[in-house]
Amino acid sequence: MHRRTKIVATLGPASESPDTLRKMIDAGLDVARLNFSHGSADEHRVRAAAVREASDASGRVVGLMGDLQGPKIRIRRFQHGSVELKDGAGFFLDSELGFADGDEQGVSVALETLHEDLKVDDVLLLNDGMITLKVDRIDGTRIHTSVVNGGILSDHKGINKKGGGLSAPALTDIDRENIVLAAELQMDFLAVSFVRSGEDVAEARRLFEAAGGTGRIVAKIERAEAVENIESIIDAADIIMVARGDLGVEMGYAVLTGIQKRLIKKTRKKSKIVITATQMMESMIHNPIPTRAEVSDVANAVMDGTDAVMLSGETAVGKYPIRAIREMAAVCVGAEEFPLPEGMTRHRIGDYFERIDEAIAMAVMYTANHLDVEAIIALTESGSTALWMSRIRSDIPIYAFTPHLETSRRVTIYRGVFPVYFDVKTTNSRALYQDVFDTMLQNKLVKVGDRVIFTKGDLDGVTGGTNAMKIVEVTARS
Ligand code: PGA
Ligand code: MN
Repeated sequence: MHRRTKIVATLGPASESPDTLRKMIDAGLDVARLNFSHGSADEHRVRAAAVREASDASGRVVGLMGDLQGPKIRIRRFQHGSVELKDGAGFFLDSELGFADGDEQGVSVALETLHEDLKVDDVLLLNDGMITLKVDRIDGTRIHTSVVNGGILSDHKGINKKGGGLSAPALTDIDRENIVLAAELQMDFLAVSFVRSGEDVAEARRLFEAAGGTGRIVAKIERAEAVENIESIIDAADIIMVARGDLGVEMGYAVLTGIQKRLIKKTRKKSKIVITATQMMESMIHNPIPTRAEVSDVANAVMDGTDAVMLSGETAVGKYPIRAIREMAAVCVGAEEFPLPEGMTRHRIGDYFERIDEAIAMAVMYTANHLDVEAIIALTESGSTALWMSRIRSDIPIYAFTPHLETSRRVTIYRGVFPVYFDVKTTNSRALYQDVFDTMLQNKLVKVGDRVIFTKGDLDGVTGGTNAMKIVEVTARS
């Protein structure tokens, strides 16, 4: 099974045992996500080590992602855990109320400035949009609302403002601690929640790098402001996540699919990576097979061109973490079989390139799409050649040959790119090709006589930047 689209899966109580992790990796897990919203630093240390061990044991490279909690605004607690809000009733939010004093009248809220961000007629969505409140009046810190859509509201549920505009900064004190933890755990990807602008992304990157982190930065698009500032966010980030959970609440579900398609297209166009996330196979939390609607959702994201699809509760707390990955992998492969309506890619066809390695990467993909070729082999230091290549649609696998563990973990999330450990041992190009062919043949990635495209830099083939492309036939060692 040759799958190009990558799978990110969230770890949790359902998936942290070494045995389950190993089976998830064998089923197709590419990137394991640790959610800093739940669990202690020590729990994350144990999970991160378990991922690395399971990956080593399986021989498959797995990336590790840490996802910051961010300023998710939440209500505080009720005297009895929950209340029932009736349509039309009054209900207030007040940060000055006692932490556990909530009742049918109102509840405390964990954002001291919430009253300053709101005005009369604003709409608040609680518990992922299950409950809707409309602001009637603001008295000091007390926000009086009326219940538009009622229901059961329990402790610590999240609050979003329809249309966005809550002023909470993107990084909380807890996030700053977790950035240091992510650096300590050598996370390959750091996901930043509720960013508003490119500056928020840059700030997270500065803190991560200052703590010694070398991973890539994922900007989660889950606020209305982020959609407005998308250009600066894509420029500042390495990876974009279409975080449909919170984004759907703020923007309204009806426009979510269109926004997803636009975000995927824009991100790829700027040569960055994109993940599509949340509720992709939600029913598999309880059921052994996905619904047809979920299958279709995953397939559509693949056809939109997403690099990766993500599982959240399905693998963190669901009954079928391994099956969820297996089903998702199968749907990706099925969707990848269908050629895109626009036919051959016109990606960056009118662009002028500034870098030699970038120009080579583009030339390779043009060739690969117009000549019978079985594989592309990129000897790469940082993975950037493989990244540029992977922005062009094709069904030819791109093997990133690298001696660096970090690079091989980084490319786990690039669509159509597969890491292969390879140490360059010769400066003679004929001997180098044969070493590469031997590795490809051993791993059964090609057959003798297959035509492949090969890219490399000078001398040792890796450092100094890719400046050469060669089309060769795979030979056996004589
Ligand atoms: P979360 O982010 O799972 O951390 O909430 C994803 C989303 O909001 O879709
Ligand atoms: Mn979210």
